[in-house]
Amino acid sequence: MILLDGKKLAEARKKQLAERVQKFSTKAGRAPKLVVVITTEIVASQVYVRNKMKACESVGILSEKIEVPKSTRKEVLTEILDKLNHAPDVDGVLVQLPLAAPFVEAQVNSTLSWTKDADGLTYTALGKLFSGDPSVAPIVAPCTPQGIIHLLQSHQIEIAGRRALVIGRSNIVGKPMALLLLKENATVTIAHSKTKDLHALIKNFHIVVVAMGQRNFFKASDFASQTVVVDVGIHGSGAGGSITGDVDFSQGAEHLAAHTPVPGGVGPMTIMTLLENTMKLAETKLGIFS
Ligand code: NAD
Repeated sequence: MILLDGKKLAEARKKQLAERVQKFSTKAGRAPKLVVVITTEIVASQVYVRNKMKACESVGILSEKIEVPKSTRKEVLTEILDKLNHAPDVDGVLVQLPLAAPFVEAQVNSTLSWTKDADGLTYTALGKLFSGDPSVAPIVAPCTPQGIIHLLQSHQIEIAGRRALVIGRSNIVGKPMALLLLKENATVTIAHSKTKDLHALIKNFHIVVVAMGQRNFFKASDFASQTVVVDVGIHGSGAGGSITGDVDFSQGAEHLAAHTPVPGGVGPMTIMTLLENTMKLAETKLGIFS
């Protein structure tokens, strides 16, 4: 059984990224820059933002946080994004989800320029991904699913021709995950809250990505022998204050081909991909192709 160690892989990719940051900074006369916009006071979201900014610092990417309080007029967020679209020293923008009311995702996804969209979630970036046409490919793909593809590939998990099940159909994880697996030539199925007989269904797939947000919904023993299981779920304060996922791997995981740990699997790869996406947006603007 292979442990898909995202923490280790993210650390290994950091060195390479720091070199790209150096190269860019020398050529551009400035470091690449990510702006994180946050509208919510949810503690977990504030912690995620802090971690993302710390990770930027660790590779030499500049980061700035813009807080937009929920008492602000809705239009102000659109105005801020529009300014960032035109700011020459800003390479990537991430709007932390969920948004606090009155702000809505549609205003972000239709206002932010796809050329600065560090999470690949604007309608233009997603449409480009959906087209599958390399001549209009987006610069970057959504962080969590792209990080999972890197995690699978770096452990030589075969994707092409294999049956892959994605459980969850959110715009940030499930749907783009299915598109990226399809791009890698998997035969893809999406399951969701209205899917029947999920426990029977999961036994028919080589790769199962679980992104349903239901703590310990599955046990490792629910999956067929030699399944690759990727657990995207994050749930804080489990037993003893620990972080747990949608799958309980604590017992009976030996028959799996591979699985991610929680924590230390998908989470670190999401942050790493955010940094790599920011770098790629910056390099593309400057005409560097790595
Ligand atoms: P979401 O709530 O937007 O979507 C959950 C999806 O799961 C929905 O599409 C729903 O149809 C499906 N679902 C819910 N209950 C189900 C059931 N009983 N059977 C089948 N399908 C069911 O959540 P999301 O934003 O996609 O995130 C999913 C999980 O991943 C959450 O725990 C979230 O915290 C975590 N997450 C982790 C990372 C990371 O970097 N590790 C990134 C994003 C999200």
